[in-house]
Amino acid sequence: MSEQFLPIAIIGAGFSGVLMAIELRKRNIPFLVIEKSEGIGGTWFENTYPGAGCDVLSTLYSYSFAQKPDWSRRYAAHSEIRAYLEECAERYDVRRDILLGTEVMAARYISSAKRWDVALSNGQTFKAQAVVFAVGQLNRPSIPEFRGLEEFSGVAFHSARWRHDCDLTGKRVAVVGSGASAIQFLPHVAREAKQVILFQRSPNWIIPKNDRILREGEKRLRKHIPLLMRLQRAWEYWQLELSFPAFLKDSTKGRKWEEACKATIASTIDDPQLRDALTPDYPAGCKRVLLSDDWFQTLARDNVEVVTSPIGEFCPSGVTTVDGVSHSIDVVIYATGFETRQVLAPIPIEGASKRRLRDAWKPHPHAYLGVAVPDFPNAFIMYGPNTNLGHGSIIFMLECQARYIGQAIGRLRRKKSVAIAPKRPVTRSFNADTQARLSRTVWGANCSSWYKGVDGVIVNNWSSTMLRYWWMLRRFQARDYDQW
Ligand code: NAP
Repeated sequence: MSEQFLPIAIIGAGFSGVLMAIELRKRNIPFLVIEKSEGIGGTWFENTYPGAGCDVLSTLYSYSFAQKPDWSRRYAAHSEIRAYLEECAERYDVRRDILLGTEVMAARYISSAKRWDVALSNGQTFKAQAVVFAVGQLNRPSIPEFRGLEEFSGVAFHSARWRHDCDLTGKRVAVVGSGASAIQFLPHVAREAKQVILFQRSPNWIIPKNDRILREGEKRLRKHIPLLMRLQRAWEYWQLELSFPAFLKDSTKGRKWEEACKATIASTIDDPQLRDALTPDYPAGCKRVLLSDDWFQTLARDNVEVVTSPIGEFCPSGVTTVDGVSHSIDVVIYATGFETRQVLAPIPIEGASKRRLRDAWKPHPHAYLGVAVPDFPNAFIMYGPNTNLGHGSIIFMLECQARYIGQAIGRLRRKKSVAIAPKRPVTRSFNADTQARLSRTVWGANCSSWYKGVDGVIVNNWSSTMLRYWWMLRRFQARDYDQW
């Protein structure tokens, strides 16, 4: 086998890795998907906390080419999403080329051979013509370094590493963080635990989710009239797409979300002090707008307390907040999010001329169209920098990327070029345009969020509509790339 016909390495078997594999299978291009976990699913394999589910409608949080008529509810739970992904891997015949339980330790471009050497945790090196990083942005749990943490004698875990062996019945449970994960599991915990203390640093704008079980009749209609299913999906797509202007500064829609959230707080929380504590002081959309039908109702329960004084230190029996109050605690659950500032970390990645991605991405990660980086030939990223959404379904973005990368790799296979990387000026102007557009959004406002890098630059979010992203990636343009 000549060097340019080596297989393609896909790193990660979540939604993006499986999708990339399906795209390559369609093109008859050999690949190996390398996954560190013992199962496929990515974030849906790792996040098994009670109540884990998607806050994007199932019709949109699924592949366009593999619509499922019988989702059990409007917003599917994690187990159903994971089962769906496994089913897709089988149906599109990519399961047999997924290597589970194997971590990628490093990836290095060998310029002389125009190939990638991918070092695996089993000691082997996988040689690939091209590599696709499909590791997601939300897979490395972040736990703050609180003083005295190691002295705590109870059980402590992160929500993405849920301890199902830890029975919370009758326990005093602390939840640190009040973001997208906390709002899903805390209502479940509050029903079991004796007491729940929520340590909230900042509140979120939370609007009704309006989730419900789908009726059998609806499922039958969707199954027997596929056109209806497609129309429903298109309708839901445009509803989300048209909400993008809400994320521009001073938007009317943003103010409507704020009013909806305040109305729920007013109707569920009697204590004026708690109402204040739960009302954000930054514009809606700055952080992810969260969806829930039971968050404020849960915080109004007698066994739930919201503490806004910051955690000072841990001691063997619990936590002392900076106002000097001690809280006795049996279990701490960190809902403190993920390390998101270094996209693709911690895999050491070395491109042409031994350039390390970590260095190329100083001061912050950037990539042409979010998928390719100058000096890193034949390397592509799914869900890369500046491709996350505030308003739509990430699956749509992933499908644009898989198609585009598939076209690029298809071109490599046809031997018109053996190595390609995006041109620097093209990448620079793409990023300048992206940041200029982002400066008009609400994401840069006065809130802390994982969308921003340390210097406040928005490194995770796409700057515009999903449609514009589709348009930009609809066709791989060789002229944007240096070729060797
Ligand atoms: P998150 O939304 O980033 O929330 C982290 C929480 O931890 C925030 O409330 C944050 O407070 C708090 N926190 C962080 N460091 C802290 C510290 N030192 N002391 C006190 N509090 C601290 O994280 P997440 O809930 O895991 O969600 C992350 C992302 O995952 C979401 O935005 C979403 O994209 C994805 N997700 C999606 C779904 C879904 O349904 N699709 C579900 C779960 C998660 P501040 O707000 O003050 O920073």
